[in-house]
Formats: sequence, C-alpha cells, structure tokens
Amino acid sequence: MSCVGTLVWLLVGMASGFGFMYYYQLRVKQAKIICEFQPKPETTPRAAFTTSRLTPSTFVVREYNDIYDEHPQIFVKLSPSTGTMLIIDTGCGGATADTEVGITSLRQYIEEVRLECNGGEALNEGKRLKYVVVATHCHYDHILGMEQFNDSPILMSSHSPSFVSPTNLPTHSLCKNMGIPTPKFKPLLVPHQYDIRSETGIPLGVFILHTPGHTPDELAIYDAAEKMLYVGDSLYETETIIFPKEGSIGEWMASIDYLISFVKTEEEDEAEQVRMSCGHSTLCQPALELLNAVKSFMNDVVAGREPVKGRMSRRGEENVQYVQLGGRFALRCPERLVLEARQLNQ
Ligand SMILES: [Zn+2]
Repeated sequence: MSCVGTLVWLLVGMASGFGFMYYYQLRVKQAKIICEFQPKPETTPRAAFTTSRLTPSTFVVREYNDIYDEHPQIFVKLSPSTGTMLIIDTGCGGATADTEVGITSLRQYIEEVRLECNGGEALNEGKRLKYVVVATHCHYDHILGMEQFNDSPILMSSHSPSFVSPTNLPTHSLCKNMGIPTPKFKPLLVPHQYDIRSETGIPLGVFILHTPGHTPDELAIYDAAEKMLYVGDSLYETETIIFPKEGSIGEWMASIDYLISFVKTEEEDEAEQVRMSCGHSTLCQPALELLNAVKSFMNDVVAGREPVKGRMSRRGEENVQYVQLGGRFALRCPERLVLEARQLNQ
C-alpha cells in the first residue's frame, strides 16, 4: 500500500471512528431520561403550574392544585432547530384552588416564568419559538387552555370529525355537564400517522397515532428521537382510568394492541426501550410492559375476574368501579361498556 493509500485509510478510519463516537454520544444523550418531578411550585410570582424536565427536549408542566382535582400533565417540547414549541394538551385553563397564585395563564407561564429546570430561562424565552398545539382528546381538562393558542395550529384527531364538531364539543368535552363555558378554537383534524411539522414545513420527528377508545378522538403522540410515547388518557397508573359514556372498551383494546405492535417494531433493531408518559400520573415508564399490564387488567375486568368495587350514577348511566389488587390500575366506566366488550369476546 502506498503512503497516500495508507493516509486515505487512516483518514477514513478516523472519520468513521469519530462518526461512531458522535452517534454513540447521541444515543447516550437520548437515553438520558430525567423525569425528576418537583411537586411544589418553585417560581416567583407563584403560578398555577409546576414544571420538571422530562427528557433532553421536553418538560412536563403540571397543574398541581386545579379546582377540578384533575392535575393534568401538559408536555412541552422545545425544538429550536425547527423554531417550534410543541405543546401536548393545555390542561384546565389555570383555575386553581391556591389563593396565592399570580399566574394562571399557561401561555404567560411558558413565556414569562423563568425556571431553574430550564437553566433559569422561561420555556419560550423571548417568544422565540412558534407554537404547534395538540389535544390528545377533547375532554375539558385537556382543552381549557386552548383559546390562549388561537393564533397557532391546534391539532386533533380526524378519526371522528362529528365527535369534536362545534355542535357536539360542549357535551363531548364534558364542559356542558360541568357547567363551564366550552373553549372556542378551530382545530385542524389530522390523520393517523401524521408527522407534525413546523410553520415552515420542517418535520419535528413527532407523529400522531389515532388510538380511539377512551373517546373516539383519543390520540397518542410518538417522539421518535427520544422514543417517548404520549398516550393522553388511554391509560395511566395509580389514578382511576375513566371511560365516559362515549368510550368503547372494544376500540380501546384494538388501540392497545396497535400500540403494542408499534412499540415492538420500534424496539426491534435497537436495544433502547420505548417509554410512555400519560395525561395523568404516569411518566417515563417502559411502554411495552405497561401496555401488556394494562391489557391484562382490562381482560380480567371484561372476563369477570375483577370484582366490582363500587357503583355510582354518572351522566344518567350506572357506572362500575374496579381496583386491581395492589392498586396499580383502577377503572371506572358505564357498566354497559363492560357488557358490550364481554359480548364481543363471546
Ligand atoms: Zn379524558
């Protein structure tokens, strides 16, 4: 081999070495899931929200003391390279039982309140990033802050357009039942596997998956680079999973099966696990284990292996409550939904 040939091979070797090191560092960085949650507000003035860094790009913003006792988890992904901030759900609109709170607007909080977990900057410091907002579904505790983002695209599932139509939204959001005004916003209804883009058309590497069941418009969001699946109210741990009268356990089962196969495919060629964060309580849990576990609990409910722990009337229908031994999963839904799912299995 000539000197030049040796030099070329040396350079190629070094380049691929550096390439691998860069790739390796990137993987390590992506795998570093942080998930430390501060339960108390740490800001001055005090806000209706508390925030913790969830992943290298994403924060979880929680309404810690809302008057509805929902404690929704709002996810905020910063994508400076595309000039975009992705907001997953907008919570209960900041109505808080904490009388010392000065900031109740989610948008004001994001733009003005400096956070230790973001290096002392506001999440959208200087309003540098444009918003893209997604509603995992139309229930009031996920959309009451939407009007604050009426100057930005608001994405919802196109699975059942009539379910989220202006005529039906007051009932299906549960706002009518709660006696609160329904927020006015014009969602852009997007199809299954839609890739979310910036205002200028740059892909964020984040996808929408239709996962009907909790409601017909329920969706999940998958952040491919960080291998994080956001599933809204499809499931969570420790707090009661609630199906409204418009829900379907049969459709939910099909969506869970879809997510299981989706996660398996995502994990096929890489050692890194897909993790899952939910609309309430659960953060960064291994997705496949969680999906299989919740499916097993629901199978027990439908097969009659879980005893009914409570009964109550909700929106004119008899509801039943189940609590798994150990308390990991609990369910409350109209009894009709369990009976319909049982029928499907026969
Ligand atoms: Zn819900």
